Amino acid sequence: MTKFLSKALEGLVQSDIRKMTVECERVGGLNLGQGICDLPTPPIISKAAISAIESQKSTYSYAEGVIDLRQIIAKKLERDNLINADPISEICVTVGATGGFAATIHALLNPGDGILIMEPYYSYHLNIARVAGLDPQFLTLSPPRFSLTEEKLRAAISPNTKAVVCCTPSNPSGKMFDENELKILAKVAHEYDLLLITDEIYEYIRYDGRSHISPATVGELWERTVSIMGLSKTFSITGWRMGYTVAPAYLMKAITLVNDLYYICAPTPLQHGVAAGLNMPTSYYDSLQSSYQTKRDKICTALDGVGMTPIIPQGAYYVLAQIGHLGFDTAHQASMAILEEAGVASVPGSSFFQGEAGEGLIRICFAMDEEVIEEACRRLKEYGHI
Ligand code: GLN
Repeated sequence: MTKFLSKALEGLVQSDIRKMTVECERVGGLNLGQGICDLPTPPIISKAAISAIESQKSTYSYAEGVIDLRQIIAKKLERDNLINADPISEICVTVGATGGFAATIHALLNPGDGILIMEPYYSYHLNIARVAGLDPQFLTLSPPRFSLTEEKLRAAISPNTKAVVCCTPSNPSGKMFDENELKILAKVAHEYDLLLITDEIYEYIRYDGRSHISPATVGELWERTVSIMGLSKTFSITGWRMGYTVAPAYLMKAITLVNDLYYICAPTPLQHGVAAGLNMPTSYYDSLQSSYQTKRDKICTALDGVGMTPIIPQGAYYVLAQIGHLGFDTAHQASMAILEEAGVASVPGSSFFQGEAGEGLIRICFAMDEEVIEEACRRLKEYGHI
């Protein structure tokens, strides 16, 4: 153990999300663990990025991003999120949604502040908050609907709570917060003067005709909300690290300052690439949705068939599957056994929960070609019949 280690890192290790990719590569399995999303990138986006590199658009952009991109984002926000944001002062392009989250908490919160995270959670929200010295607090939502009630929300707030994180559609549960739940959030956030930080990176991946509601549009939430969005999932460019934050100017000023200090700016040529993507017609999003609908239905049917009952997701590209009956002591053991024996990687449910609830679950990602999903389903079936 080195003496050179930040106290904030004590007890922190690499996420199971990443670890399972390493394990999967070791056994040559199908990676339905980490949400890698290796679908083809729309050529218009790659071409625009290549052309930006070839035409020397390779220097720093403004800390808040290329102005053309921010203008296109503002139009997209108006069209799809019903958010009116000023491209000059209320939008900052970030190094992925994760970079946006990190810039936000460092800009707006102080060590020791409570940050309320809804469980099951995306572990990066939790661990980034820990590294920032925040005090993570939990609000457990229960399957299958993961409903948020006023009573539960109030009970989860402590005297030091300063912020709430709302991931919708949620990673890992796929839960999408409805208007009533967001009104509860608006009411309670106002009463306790809380900052709301959203993660809406899966906004375009949703099922059964559901529409996405951006929390910032509900009640008076805009004035206390940082909306975090990303392009990784929408354009299958998870390695580009392109995201953006949207917030009223008085919050955005501080977020942009931190974004500058940590990252200088998001990669400039890639900003030009995603600008071309955001100009695509809305039919792009319709076909994205219908192809994910087919994949979700396929994987959920297969999981049902082998007794790993799925908690049907409303959005995002993950499904939590019940594996408690398989007789393993931990979700990690179950996940490893399924990888070793069926050649299918997943993420242990314990990665998304503080308590025992995660031990009976694994998370399966279905952001891949249909043939890969079909092969994974075939392997799971075979495994289920052993
Ligand atoms: N968001 C993706 C997931 O949950 C990838 C995260 C990561 O690689 N850290 O799997």
